[in-house]
Amino acid sequence: MYDYLIVGCGFAGAVLAERLASAGNKKVLIIDKRNHIGGNAYDYYDEHGILVHKYGPHIFHTNSKEIFEYLGRFTEWRPYEHRVLASIDGQLVPVPINLNTINKLYGLNLSSEEMEVFLAAKREPVQQVLTSEDVVLGSVGKELYEKFFKGYTIKQWGIAPADLDASVTARVPTRINKDDRYFTDTYQAMPLRGYTHMFERMLAHPNIHIMLNADYEAVKQSFICKQTIYTGPIDAFFNYRFGKLPYRSIDFKFQTLEQENFQPCGTINYPMSQLYTRITEFKRLTGQSHPKTTIVMEYPTAEGDPYYPIPRKENQSLYNQYKALAEKFPDVHFTGRLGTYRYYNMDQVVAQSLALFKKLSASDRPLNGAVKKAVASKL
Ligand code: FAD
Ligand code: UDP
Repeated sequence: MYDYLIVGCGFAGAVLAERLASAGNKKVLIIDKRNHIGGNAYDYYDEHGILVHKYGPHIFHTNSKEIFEYLGRFTEWRPYEHRVLASIDGQLVPVPINLNTINKLYGLNLSSEEMEVFLAAKREPVQQVLTSEDVVLGSVGKELYEKFFKGYTIKQWGIAPADLDASVTARVPTRINKDDRYFTDTYQAMPLRGYTHMFERMLAHPNIHIMLNADYEAVKQSFICKQTIYTGPIDAFFNYRFGKLPYRSIDFKFQTLEQENFQPCGTINYPMSQLYTRITEFKRLTGQSHPKTTIVMEYPTAEGDPYYPIPRKENQSLYNQYKALAEKFPDVHFTGRLGTYRYYNMDQVVAQSLALFKKLSASDRPLNGAVKKAVASKL
């Protein structure tokens, strides 16, 4: 009855469902074990009427016009540039580190050229940049590493930056200008009516049937589809045959305050103090007006929902074993942050799903006469 069973209703699954249903004219059953669509990007109005993100702050940013326009079919956008301050030595200073950060932190009045000289004196020689520690030591040196990165990274990942791939802290650049935006992507915006609303519109197609509270393990025998797209954790699909892939989880603590605003920007990071990594105030992201405000504190944990694949060599090797096994199942397609064990942002997941859709459509296309002849001649 269905052409595709899609496991997971987050960005990875929803984009494929939408494409397969509307461009591929396929019948799709999309399931999620949770009681809502949207995956980790799910948002909702809390009991006070404030729009919050259930799984932590999600800010959309991309350099891809194609992705921005594709999602724009399902939402209007509210322009939003995220800004983050870090609480360091009793002061709030901009992150990523920029010219204003250094001047405020050290009580200086450097120019960009002088900041370059300042950092050159602080940088440590790093032969080969392999780890997250190397990245930071090689760009800003030990003192700033310890203030901004060491404590935050240990809290967030439960391991030292020296044990994490370089790609993790490389997400946060150093700037010698005064640009205090967290991201510099060409397109930075929030879905005007929230992520869940956008997902509702993506999935509102007669060829798409949604089933919530449905764990793949429990329902897989009930729906025999020709093809499966799996966006849950790849190790779970294979019943942890080679062992568990490590993930980092987060305990989100929400608090609603009887005041209009709590902090001066969207997020404040706490690299050197507190058990949480950061506090985000949702109204700063969504632009909502409300006499109260809701904030979320993020406490990273080892146990819990798998939110972050942990980028390091041994985990990649373990993932590669699962990937090799997955290749023996041509009718099951793994995608998304958990399905491919990649620390991907939302736009990267959308890009990955659009690419998979193209691949599936190409292999689905009926062979024309010329191609049939060519294939026949090779048999
Ligand atoms: P998910 O959203 O995780 O969706 C997978 C779905 O599969 C889940 O709903 C899950 O319930 C379901 N599932 C799993 N197993 C099963 C099963 N056995 N049966 C049925 N269903 C199953 N990205 C950004 O671009 N900007 C940000 O600001 C940003 N902030 C983030 C903050 C946090 C705290 C986190 C954790 C992530 C953030 N991200 C951000 C990343 C973003 O969440 C992901 O890129 C994106 O949501 C991944 O989509 P996905 O569909 O691959 O996975
Ligand atoms: N990071 C840090 N201090 C900061 C901000 C980031 O040490 O003030 C490091 C930390 O290891 C973090 C990584 O850089 O996990 C990536 O940061 P990002 O803000 O991109 O994380 P995400 O939003 O994905 O949780």
